[in-house]
Amino acid sequence: MARTEILDVRVPGEETTARLGRAAEVIKRGGLVAFPTETVYGLGANAFDEEAVGRIYEAKGRPSDNPMIAHIARPDDIGLLAKSTSPHMEKLAKAFWPGPLTMVAAKRDEVPRRVTGGLETVAIRLPDHPVAAELIRLAGIPLAAPSANLSGSPSPTKAEHVIADLDGKVDIILQGGPCHIGIESTVVDMTASPPCVLRPGIITREDIETCLGEPIAGHSVITTNPQAAAPFDAAPPKSPGMKYAHYAPKATLLVVMGQDAEKTAAELMRLKKQNEALGIRVGLLLAGERSHYEFARDFYAKLRDFDNEGVDMIIAVAPPEVGGITTAILNRLLKAAGNNIVRV
Ligand code: AMP
Ligand code: MG
Repeated sequence: MARTEILDVRVPGEETTARLGRAAEVIKRGGLVAFPTETVYGLGANAFDEEAVGRIYEAKGRPSDNPMIAHIARPDDIGLLAKSTSPHMEKLAKAFWPGPLTMVAAKRDEVPRRVTGGLETVAIRLPDHPVAAELIRLAGIPLAAPSANLSGSPSPTKAEHVIADLDGKVDIILQGGPCHIGIESTVVDMTASPPCVLRPGIITREDIETCLGEPIAGHSVITTNPQAAAPFDAAPPKSPGMKYAHYAPKATLLVVMGQDAEKTAAELMRLKKQNEALGIRVGLLLAGERSHYEFARDFYAKLRDFDNEGVDMIIAVAPPEVGGITTAILNRLLKAAGNNIVRV
């Protein structure tokens, strides 16, 4: 592919509408468009066009058994992808869409297996972002879209991250400013009974339980044996994407975990000094005064910043797992660290 067009769609108006129209035409013709959502940037193609979807795997260097999320613009469009809906799905759609919740349902025959990584189920989401919504609406079809990064590198939360990874490999990159949530959507398997959280996110297991009025299933992000395989490897094979080391920076990421804040802080400083004495460039990833939401929003961008600064080792302190959004933060931290955990 010779050239990637970078189109600024940050300011609503005639020009932005025309640019989104052009991007939608590219999608209809089988091209690839990177677009902002509230979670991370997505790399979209016509979900019903096998060849176009194949190009996504090529551009990202993504293993082809890793399923993608199909993005829709109206709740009713669930029917284009899922064989059927259920009262549970309708409740969750009503409560959380548009928003960072992905529901896995039995797929219609028309949905290519390339989108679903060979599975008989499809993951569906209605994103809460004006650019994503308008692009999907103008294209008139669901967009299959994984995150718009090279496979294995941190998810992109700014157009600049997409440009760094995919310039020259896709047709259009829409510059829509930074993503305000910053971590990927919560994925919940609606084919399981009770429904099961496959990937934690900003919409928490507790939020979903409150909405449905009954308990659902999920997986602890912390394995009992810290040396064991990556968290979520115990997840059912239904979610093959979870087996890959995602989100990893080039630098070594070390996560310090413990219940006692003073002890973890002391261990952090000891590790920093010890490594710096060996000539290793150390960066610290700390929550500081920031809320969990702000930590999540900035997380991937910080990993990329450290890599750009030439940091060799990133040391982070994990928040105690107390449920809610800490589950999602811990999941992303531990995935990025490849289970490089120091317990104190
Ligand atoms: P990404 O598009 O990079 O945010 O990744 C999407 C993730 O959603 C995958 O890695 C899977 O873990 C999950 N997912 C997508 N489709 C399915 C499906 N049909 N069944 C279970 N999990 C899915
Ligand atoms: Mg991804």
